[in-house]
Amino acid sequence: MGVALAERVASKAPAPLIDPFQRAITYLRISVTDRCDLRCVYCMSDDMQFLPKRDLLTLEELDRLCGVFIDRGVRKLRITGGEPLLRRDIMHLFRRLSRHLGSGALEELTMTTNGTQLGRFAPELAELGVKRVNVSLDTLDPDKFRAVTRRGDLKVVLDGIEKARKAGIKVKINAVALKGVNEDEIADMIAWAHGDGMDMTLIEVMPLGEVEGDRTDQFLPLSVARARLEQRYTMVPLPDRTGGPARYVRIAETGGRLGFITPLTHNFCESCNRVRLTCTGKLYMCLGQEDAADLRHALRASPDDALVTQAVTDAIARKPKGHDFVIERARPAAVPRHMSVTGG
Ligand code: SAM
Ligand code: SF4
Repeated sequence: MGVALAERVASKAPAPLIDPFQRAITYLRISVTDRCDLRCVYCMSDDMQFLPKRDLLTLEELDRLCGVFIDRGVRKLRITGGEPLLRRDIMHLFRRLSRHLGSGALEELTMTTNGTQLGRFAPELAELGVKRVNVSLDTLDPDKFRAVTRRGDLKVVLDGIEKARKAGIKVKINAVALKGVNEDEIADMIAWAHGDGMDMTLIEVMPLGEVEGDRTDQFLPLSVARARLEQRYTMVPLPDRTGGPARYVRIAETGGRLGFITPLTHNFCESCNRVRLTCTGKLYMCLGQEDAADLRHALRASPDDALVTQAVTDAIARKPKGHDFVIERARPAAVPRHMSVTGG
């Protein structure tokens, strides 16, 4: 039992969330919108149908749900989407959630973003206690960026990253490794990110949601990418674990950290500490499984939190041991829901 968990038990705080495999759930990801201003080719189709706005939880409801999780020992929140900074008044939610940083109940409030709106919001995010963000960026070539995102302007994203760093926010770059698209660029991107003091993580394409085309065409095993990188860089394995799918190395030549997220070639479920909430109040206990609990009903049935707290307890008791992604079975998608619904 960790120290924080032991302290909670001793202080008779509400029971921590422990799943059937004795994993403590301390990390909640919240997808605040399924909408996005980009259409990354591996993430969604060009004519993606978004949820009707009336189905969304309000920001007050999202705040209340987060409070229930924090009461039960969740220490880290990640706001994601869709593009989280596109949700109207999203700063209101950050403002509300930052009170848990002030009280010490929450260790970290963070976000994954495509960076298009980051320039606008970075100063306020920093003021509210957001210390780190992940920015997704798959290429440093403006034409490729436009092609991968089907519409994005690389300059805007680079400017957003710059503004975040100037505001004192640590930026980590997340890049999806894409066969025939950015595979020859990854080594240079690492040099760029590390040169500016940013960590970088490579992600394997996951079979989530229908996209145009065939994901097996996009899939570049990170074992292949890593072998190529080893011709240029010396990788020193790091013990760092976040309870998530990433494994880290230090690159001797740059001094920077590089992560590998390999859901398809390595299973990372045994230490999973996270669950995911959608903008409609569905709680997914696993990114790679279909089972979800509808928390919206419990939330709206009573102003008291007892019902929704019980619904969360029941949901965690159903958290599966792991996922079952296999890229060969990914046609059609292994999981019909897009990453933008559950949040990356
Ligand atoms: N829009 C924000 C962004 O792009 O950072 C947040 C949401 S996005 C769904 C979160 C992460 O999921 C991004 O890093 C994106 O590259 C990744 N992603 C989306 N679809 C994916 C897929 N099918 N396989 C692997 N990663 C995916
Ligand atoms: Fe939008 Fe992020 Fe999906 Fe790209 S990966 S389409 S930025 S949600």
